[in-house]
Amino acid sequence: MSDDYYVCTGCALLCDDISVKVEDEKLTAVHAACRKGVAFMKGCSHPMEATINGETADVESAIKEASNILKKAEHPLIFGHANSSSAAQFKAIELARRTNGYLDDTSSFCQGPLIEAIMEDKLKTCTLDDVRHKADVIIFWGSDPASAHPRHMSRYSYFPRGKERQRGWEEDRTVIAIDVRKSDTAEICGKNGLYQIPVKGDAEFMDALVSALSGKVPKTSYDFDKKRLLELASIMKKAKFGVIFAGLGMVYSLEDNEPLYRLMEKLNSVSNFHVIPMSGHYNMVGFNKNLFGETGYINRVKFEGEEIKHGPEYSVVEALRKKDIDAALVIGADPYSSLPRSIVRHLEDIPLIVIDPCQTLTSTKADVTIPCGLVGVESGGTAVRMDGVEVELKQIVESDRLSDEDVMTKILEGL
Ligand code: SF4
Repeated sequence: MSDDYYVCTGCALLCDDISVKVEDEKLTAVHAACRKGVAFMKGCSHPMEATINGETADVESAIKEASNILKKAEHPLIFGHANSSSAAQFKAIELARRTNGYLDDTSSFCQGPLIEAIMEDKLKTCTLDDVRHKADVIIFWGSDPASAHPRHMSRYSYFPRGKERQRGWEEDRTVIAIDVRKSDTAEICGKNGLYQIPVKGDAEFMDALVSALSGKVPKTSYDFDKKRLLELASIMKKAKFGVIFAGLGMVYSLEDNEPLYRLMEKLNSVSNFHVIPMSGHYNMVGFNKNLFGETGYINRVKFEGEEIKHGPEYSVVEALRKKDIDAALVIGADPYSSLPRSIVRHLEDIPLIVIDPCQTLTSTKADVTIPCGLVGVESGGTAVRMDGVEVELKQIVESDRLSDEDVMTKILEGL
């Protein structure tokens, strides 16, 4: 195995302790990654090929065709980015600027509201390293790392010993799941660790917790054991360093962030609590951070000359629903797999370009497909972990595929 350690880009944990075996410029063994990470790093079962209108093409011709499509478009959509290097994301921002395009990413329909609140300093956050070293109360709210981020609990949140948590998980940490179901993570939290709430019951449960933390009798319209709710409030109040890992279960349940703001404000008046959104794709937070730095917004923007428009009407979902776009470039995402058919249908009526290391459902519908190297294996770069920490990704094998950044640069040159 290698003496160097590499980073797995299988999810937004970006585990940086991976050793590998390389034979004939192929990854033949991956050590320390979870099964999901090993499968991801070993590459695609169906690598992407360069095509134009379904016919095999050389990469340069496919790139030239992509530039021509974008040059002719008046309102293209540049979408994806969650599985792209930060350098490619900056090129995508430039591309959207130069083409008066819509620019959006997958956070637009998942963790966007929480990531935005953190970037605007409306929610207190911390790093995963802080969690490992300090956290004594860990709450998985609508999140299931045992399934989605397999090494989360062993590397950071529950099992490791930390500088201020030397006695280990058995004595030093309390772990709780608040969820609508008994997830794999809830199983690990033990008999009394699951607080099961009804679907869409999160906002009420947050307000009941605020009441309990204020010394009042908590009330919910659904039948929830008040004694258990008071016990939970007491655990949270006594925390020296608490963290809520917010999953999509919570995000999709809340109509806005207000109940969470109320809970966090109360918690931080009596205790010390932080929120980390459980982002899935390895560099979604990177895109949000990079776009925020360039425009002041994390997603859902439309460029018009010098003007930057922002709002729900500029989201990928609304742009597709209203048929406002006349071409689309998808990089590092698969909207046909993640959005309803009724939304993505418009992509069939306009020229569609897909850039990806692997074939996807979306690439089967594309007019132009362009392969790129798998970031973190065939090309290097940087990405941003779910907690906002920037991580360097080293290239592991030599590849004749262009990096995602190089593909974007060439498309820009062809405009
Ligand atoms: S937890 Fe995520 S980053 Fe870590 S090895 Fe597994 S897939 Fe890769």
